Amino acid sequence: NDKPTEPQADSGLIHLKILKSKENVALKEALTRPIQNTNQIMKLVNPIVESVRNNGDKSLMEFTQKFDGVKLKTPVLEAPFPKEYFDGLTDEMKESLDLSIENVRKFHAAQLQETVLKVETKPGVLCSRFPRPIEKVGLYIPGGTAVLPSTALMLGVPAQVAGCKEIIFASPPRKSDGKVSPEVVYVASKVGASMIVLAGGAQAVAAMAYGTESVPKVDKIAGPGNQFVTAAKMYVQNDTQALCSIDMPAGPSEVLVICDEDADADFVASDLLSQAEHGIDSQVILLGVDLSSKKVEEIQAAVHSQATNLSRVDIIRKCISHSSIVLCESYEEAFQISNQYAPEHLILQISNAEDYVKDVDNAGSIFVGAYTPESCGDYSSGTNHTLPTYGYARQYSGLNTSAFQKFITSQSITPEGLDKIGKAVMCIAKVEGLDGHRNAVKIRMSKLGLLPENF
Ligand code: NAD
Repeated sequence: NDKPTEPQADSGLIHLKILKSKENVALKEALTRPIQNTNQIMKLVNPIVESVRNNGDKSLMEFTQKFDGVKLKTPVLEAPFPKEYFDGLTDEMKESLDLSIENVRKFHAAQLQETVLKVETKPGVLCSRFPRPIEKVGLYIPGGTAVLPSTALMLGVPAQVAGCKEIIFASPPRKSDGKVSPEVVYVASKVGASMIVLAGGAQAVAAMAYGTESVPKVDKIAGPGNQFVTAAKMYVQNDTQALCSIDMPAGPSEVLVICDEDADADFVASDLLSQAEHGIDSQVILLGVDLSSKKVEEIQAAVHSQATNLSRVDIIRKCISHSSIVLCESYEEAFQISNQYAPEHLILQISNAEDYVKDVDNAGSIFVGAYTPESCGDYSSGTNHTLPTYGYARQYSGLNTSAFQKFITSQSITPEGLDKIGKAVMCIAKVEGLDGHRNAVKIRMSKLGLLPENF
């Protein structure tokens, strides 16, 4: 009875498609992410990675010249970074970066796991677990189409907090002068990075994974990037020669907003657009709970009027063309759909939003209430903006301090303890056919005069 009007296809309006939650086929289509053609990208990326692995700096600089149009004498900038690399950095920018670093540090320091776990599972059997930082980490700061000091601090601060001994940045150099932006250099110095690798794409990932004459080999690579970066990270994590792990698979950024009739249409539109401007393959979804057609029209109008005033309107237009408003009948239904979709960013613009956080099973990060725009989490609130995309929020957490730690377990067993568990060990080892395992217990129990009969 309250049916919203569809935008005209040829009107030039920047409007989202509208569908109802019960339109199963349309809903499935609306929630399908743009396909990532991994195989084709791998074909392009494999030779780049192999070339850097085999030829080191020479290949690294050749690819920088080819893809970034910069001819370098050396592929790295070592700390302490020369003064001229900070040129152009304003006091206002320094203060903004300092505030963001401070908040991200506060939140990530609180996550640091320092406790040594000690559990006596049986008398004389002491099991423990303790953390250690991952020693050397390589942090990729994208730089192809935008300057991203925010990504530098989201990666660098947790690595520093975790106590990584060596932090290396990699970012593509600017075509104009072969440098990286002063904001990124500033963050690198604030988090104690020892070096910035002046390279991007698959070649930068390969240099950090295998090491070159100038770039030390790292143990883990973290950070977002385009499809070449992502494919190279997948390659090196599967190559035992690299012995290098990665943070998480990454894809185009996305947001899902749940709103109700009380939501401010301007706020809802601004959140959708702040994500839509990321890229044409980004996805933005609005789940509206029991919305009147008037509210839907207000939101569509706000999307159009705000979008046309944004600098990246062309990207937004393409992104919005494959983005949707889904009209839901209840909050319960909206959260079911959202949990199924597992968004990277989930924004709740509903009354009593805080009460609904308990209903979220799958999401990278949640933005609760009308005055919590996603941009704050992207830069300055303290949470990390490196989050699982493409539905991986079902099984991955966003980047956090423990991503830069590993946990070692330890046990010590007394004769009394061996007496308590030795028989079980021998019994299981026997059925597994591992006589050596069985013998290692048997020989000890025998010397202690504790060997049970028939063993
Ligand atoms: P980028 O630094 O990831 O990639 C630039 C590099 O790609 C270049 O240096 C070049 O070496 C390589 N390259 C370009 N064309 C190539 C080709 N034809 N063959 C081989 N290599 C090639 O920068 P970008 O391209 O701007 O992409 C940044 C990405 O990171 C975007 O997709 C953005 O959405 C994403 N991002 C995500 C987050 C997050 O937290 N999820 C944060 C920031 C950025």
